[in-house]
Amino acid sequence: MEQNSELNVTGPYSDVIMDHYRNPRNREHILDYDIEINDSNPFCGDEVHLKIKLDGLSQISAIGAGSKGCSIIQASTSIMAEEIVGKTYKQIMALYEVFNGVINGKCDPPDLSYPENLLALNVVRDYPVRIKCVLLPWVALLEVLRKI
Ligand code: ZN
Repeated sequence: MEQNSELNVTGPYSDVIMDHYRNPRNREHILDYDIEINDSNPFCGDEVHLKIKLDGLSQISAIGAGSKGCSIIQASTSIMAEEIVGKTYKQIMALYEVFNGVINGKCDPPDLSYPENLLALNVVRDYPVRIKCVLLPWVALLEVLRKI
């Protein structure tokens, strides 16, 4: 479902979102994966499909990340894939806690170490209905990681 027209992505970070939307990262299918995650948001038709390879150190070593739906879910999935490769589950969960707070407007980005990619997604703070689009890949991933 294409809903670009509803969301006016402008401002200093719009290039980041449009770049990830047009050239999604880690989109290649990986054959040798440990976890497969498929999730969707029936309200807007967004879908996320993740294939993840783990290494023995509770760390994500590779990800194949695909999504369908609005520009925001596609950009967010690509950005998440880029941010989580090489991180441990604990690091990913900690990052998500901060990201979730920032996106929901409960707190500001903590410091300059906050990834610019995630900062770019702050445009949805003005479009509360899109927060679910941004968070879908993260929620789907964390639901699985919490059980490992
Ligand atoms: Zn969406």
